[in-house]
Amino acid sequence: METHILGFPRIGARRELKRALESYWKGKSSELELQQTAAQLRKTHWQIQQSAGLSFVSTGDFSYYDQMLDMSAALGVIPERFGQAEEIDLATYFKLARGDAQANVPAMEMTKWFNTNYHYIVPEISPMTSPRLLSRKIIEETAEAVELGFTPKPVLIGPITYLELSKGRNGFNCWEKLPELVAVYTDLIKELSALCEWIQLDEPILCRELSAQAAANFTPVYARLNAAANSSKLLLTTYFDTLDDNLDLALNSGCGGLHLDLVRGNKQLESLLAKLPESMIFSAGIVEGRNIWKTDYTAALSRLRPLYAALGSERLWLGSSCSLLHAPVDLTNETDLDPEIRSWLAFAVQKCTEITDLATATTVNGDNPVIIKNREAITSRRKSTRVNNPEVQQRLGSITPEMLKRASPYPERKTAQSWLKLPLLPTTTIGSFPQTGEIRRNRLAYKKGEINTEEYTGFLKDEIKHVVTLQEELGLDVLVHGESERNDMVEYFGQQLSGFCFTANGWVQSYGSRCVKPPVIFGDISRPQAMTVEWIKYAQSVTDKPLKGMLTGPVTILCWSFVRDDITRKEVSSQIALAIRDEVQDLEKAGIHIIQIDEAALSEGMPVKQRDRTSYLEWAVESFRLATTGVADSTQIHTHMCYSEFNDIIESIADMDADVISIESSRSRMELLNCFKDFKYPNEIGPGVWDIHSPRVPSVDEIVELLEKACTYIPKERLWVNPDCGLKTRDWEETIASIKNMVEAAQIMRNK
Ligand code: GLN
Ligand code: ZN
Repeated sequence: METHILGFPRIGARRELKRALESYWKGKSSELELQQTAAQLRKTHWQIQQSAGLSFVSTGDFSYYDQMLDMSAALGVIPERFGQAEEIDLATYFKLARGDAQANVPAMEMTKWFNTNYHYIVPEISPMTSPRLLSRKIIEETAEAVELGFTPKPVLIGPITYLELSKGRNGFNCWEKLPELVAVYTDLIKELSALCEWIQLDEPILCRELSAQAAANFTPVYARLNAAANSSKLLLTTYFDTLDDNLDLALNSGCGGLHLDLVRGNKQLESLLAKLPESMIFSAGIVEGRNIWKTDYTAALSRLRPLYAALGSERLWLGSSCSLLHAPVDLTNETDLDPEIRSWLAFAVQKCTEITDLATATTVNGDNPVIIKNREAITSRRKSTRVNNPEVQQRLGSITPEMLKRASPYPERKTAQSWLKLPLLPTTTIGSFPQTGEIRRNRLAYKKGEINTEEYTGFLKDEIKHVVTLQEELGLDVLVHGESERNDMVEYFGQQLSGFCFTANGWVQSYGSRCVKPPVIFGDISRPQAMTVEWIKYAQSVTDKPLKGMLTGPVTILCWSFVRDDITRKEVSSQIALAIRDEVQDLEKAGIHIIQIDEAALSEGMPVKQRDRTSYLEWAVESFRLATTGVADSTQIHTHMCYSEFNDIIESIADMDADVISIESSRSRMELLNCFKDFKYPNEIGPGVWDIHSPRVPSVDEIVELLEKACTYIPKERLWVNPDCGLKTRDWEETIASIKNMVEAAQIMRNK
């Protein structure tokens, strides 16, 4: 039985690629050194796959920045602003990804890869785009694997997914370039076919509703690609959801094989078996590529054995559900992790072995020692008192409808909140202030035990006092404590909640050299004690102005963690919501009457298929309400979101029923407010007037102009003045200058 993975993480177990990239960008190391690190990583990753016993090693999954950008480079889809390149050398490649500061050419756009936290570079296509084979990277890397003695299976992003995710310049219809693009694809496939038996074409887009053009072009395009493959075969890979309506399209693609994600789409095996053409192999994506839990072998085998009975070892392959890009690299490095919890986990390296373990076990009936050992680990996790907390489970069962709404509707709350005596167009910030080197140094020193708790607390209090006083001087109306005690808006809370644990090296790539280390939610979540109250209370004690308490919302904590897979995401989210609810109430008791609960990641949790989005939004909104509605009408609840594509979800956002929402909008010059033309947002709103992603200080005039625009959409009584997002990454000089301008602009508007 053939076994494989859809791709391996390229960043390296010790983030070697990140280090090499950043050092190269800083000019501290040469291109050659970077290329050597990359080659070494590829070789290591191929060795891992080979020694796990997989039939193939994945090639073309390595990337210096992003695999979608690699595809654009291969296809010659390069925006005109970068000139007419004859070939894509590394310097050009990085300009596409990161912009060319010297020539003042902005980078290509970046966005999230389906519903993961990985960001890809969006292809830009215009009438001028002239597709041609511009980068031979995938061919070279496949040849490199052959030379080293590996059996490669190169992976390409399929043309349908590529085009569906591309963006046409000024409304250009990208599909007009389809014939030329397909010609490049066939060139690529022809060359690759000389090096390998199988070529993997990723078409995750088939798990989403297709556009009419994609649906109409799929079959003819695949007929051409298959014809180009010569003696090798195409493996059509889909993942992240079920195929549903697109199953027939995939089955009739004429490809040599079809791969389905059996972890995230498990309802269609029977119809698949009935319809799978004789000429097609079926690859079962049985080992989850996006999580860190051990596969339950017993459950997996009960699904695989009937498949094996029907297809035999010739036509059944086993693989990872999707690329392992979204999983951390190697569990072996987690020596500090609690041994019990560790016994429940598998990272990318371990997942490779899981696939071959399962392949061995599928073909024989009965248990082998590996299966028995796995069952012990799975049972230990299921029964562990670390995982199960009866109190939490009971509390979850006793949520009443009253706990999901505020006591009174917004108009009454507005009256009840008038005691806060806020001026028209109140000014505020989103929570964090610059995380200076001094703050980071002190945090590190405390972590290393170089300074004691008292010293560290003293340092943070001084910092808080400093930012509060400064905000008073600058004339802001609603103040924040600055979040200097927080390293990260999710980790900070995870560390104080039970049910969470943390890895030392569990990094996954977010974009480019950027990695995140998501906390692990392994058990029922509860809050042993208040998490933020002391800091906020202290901040309030040094000012008479209202201080805004700052929390992270349940959906954001969920989306930015590795979540347990034994209960639903909705249940986990409710558990977090109950913990946050307690914190909100404790803040209120401590005299904090404005509380912001950030839901920066609400849109990231959105399911791949359009039709599943309503039910997701329902529980996501419910979680937010559960977290926030336990306060009096006179307490003001804020929320914050870091994006501006609201049109589709604005009603759900209104349903969250926060008194005030702040959103990102300055970059789009308030374009997002267009959606308020048709939909009258019922509560208060602060559209960002200052783009905090850039060091540029917005002028007073510019802010006034944005506010005037905002006033035409939102009644002035319900408008707030704030930046786009937190100021953590900015420096003090530009922060102070920008706040000054923002406060002055608000004053000008009030006078008007
Ligand atoms: N309160 C957080 C901050 O200011 C919000 C960050 C975010 O939205 N990503 O940093
Ligand atoms: Zn934000």
